[in-house]
Amino acid sequence: MKATVIGCGISGLCSGIRLLEADFDVQIIAKELPPNTTSDVAAAIWYPYRCYPEEKALHWGKQTLETCYELTKAPDTGVSIVQFTEYLPEPSPDPWWKNAVKQFRRVKPENLPEIYRDGYFFEVPFIDSRLHMPWLMERFKNLGGTIRKAEAEDFEEIGSESEIIVNCAGIGADKLANDKTFYPVKGQSVWVEGKYNGAYYLDQHGKLSLCYVLPRSQDIVLGGTAVEHDATVDPEEEITDQIIQKARQLDPSLHIDKIKHVAAGLRPARPEVRLEAEQKHGRTIIHNYGHGGAGYTLCWGCADEVVELVKKTLIE
Ligand SMILES: Cc1cc2nc3c(=O)[nH]c(=O)nc-3n(C[C@H](O)[C@H](O)[C@H](O)COP(=O)(O)OP(=O)(O)OC[C@H]3O[C@@H](n4cnc5c(N)ncnc54)[C@H](O)[C@@H]3O)c2cc1C
Repeated sequence: MKATVIGCGISGLCSGIRLLEADFDVQIIAKELPPNTTSDVAAAIWYPYRCYPEEKALHWGKQTLETCYELTKAPDTGVSIVQFTEYLPEPSPDPWWKNAVKQFRRVKPENLPEIYRDGYFFEVPFIDSRLHMPWLMERFKNLGGTIRKAEAEDFEEIGSESEIIVNCAGIGADKLANDKTFYPVKGQSVWVEGKYNGAYYLDQHGKLSLCYVLPRSQDIVLGGTAVEHDATVDPEEEITDQIIQKARQLDPSLHIDKIKHVAAGLRPARPEVRLEAEQKHGRTIIHNYGHGGAGYTLCWGCADEVVELVKKTLIE
């Protein structure tokens, strides 16, 4: 049976791969292909940031974690497992996602930087999108999938030969689905070359928020920002300076030789991830969008559910 996936970001590729593995005949149609999607701009660490509802995000996130651990065993996937540290301005209860991750423990008070009063370490997947997105495209094609660059104007016209349409259009999904609850959250990151102690940090509630430092094999990702309802995708110079300043405060061991790249993207946010089936124009549309700041964190769990939803609608 034919299925058309709209979108070639992390959600579209994972959904496409899972559908091919379930013996569907799958094509992806996308306005932009990697490296020009929001997914290519992501940091991209496993962390349930701005994604709801928590209960479902936890379920999808756990499944994604399991798949990411598997992917570290294969070569060239760009997925590695790292020890991540989140610092907090006040003593805080355990986070709602604590049971999903391995090796969760508190930072000892004597090891906290001066501006923080709490913090935890935990083990998570870190995904090098420069390697992972091409790897996913290759896997999708090797399984027999095809990819076409085109814009969908609506669900009626696109993929007319397919009985199943999967809407993974990210920030483009609101227009396609006429979704009034959808809003962009602009984020900017800076990729630098330099010397650094190699630790992975996040502050999303404290004085430096939002600040992350994520070393990769050949560079270090610094971030970031989260500006709700800002739909512009141009990076801002002033913000680049602020991001670098905050990263240096978070870890003074950071020495920057060169700014390699600066980019901004729009997190596709909504009160809840939309993962559900809809009957329209005599076809089944599976919506899989609105992952906010957690597209990489939820991708495989959501892709598995896409397949479950497709199978369920076929039985009904
Ligand atoms: C700065 C930044 C840092 C981030 N860091 C992290 C992180 O550390 N961890 C994490 O989990 N997440 C992170 N995110 C969030 C993550 O990037 C998103 O949740 C994720 O990329 C969404 O993926 P997607 O596949 O749904 O959408 P996208 O990657 O936006 O892909 C959408 C696809 O649909 C296509 N499309 C859109 N409209 C149409 C149309 N009408 N017709 C055809 N094709 C269409 C697009 O061209 C594209 O191919 C970050 C985001 C930003 C901006």
